[in-house]
Amino acid sequence: MRSRRSSGRSTRKVAEVKPIRFTRHEMEELDPSRELTAQELATIRTIGDATPEAALVRCQIDGATVAAACVDRCGTVELIISAAECPRFSPASGRVAEGVWREGQDSAQTVLLFAYEGVLSRLETYRHDGEVPTGLPPVDELPTWAG
Ligand SMILES: [Zn+2]
Repeated sequence: MRSRRSSGRSTRKVAEVKPIRFTRHEMEELDPSRELTAQELATIRTIGDATPEAALVRCQIDGATVAAACVDRCGTVELIISAAECPRFSPASGRVAEGVWREGQDSAQTVLLFAYEGVLSRLETYRHDGEVPTGLPPVDELPTWAG
């Protein structure tokens, strides 16, 4: 338990919605692109499986590669989808799926899967306290829900 100095403000209990500070990712292109790690693949499948688009996520992620990765090694990567025969997402762009690790704690970490123009484009992760994550959370501790 971390000690924290009181700010002097009253601690009214309102519906507690903490403002989320998104980490700014500085993406470094990989040339050539690399295969997804086992953890990246498992993470995408796990959060994708919580969505109605699970089959589509699994289709598109087959043979996908990583085109760029955050220089901070936080776990955020840009994806290249090569499975041209897969259907596309509708709506075409936006969040497809997400999961939160350690929900409710300062160190809570969200993982988001995005699509752009109908295909998976990015796996992004950030900590709710603004710290840079040291990588993707353990897949088996990642509750998920549809985006
Ligand atoms: Zn990052």
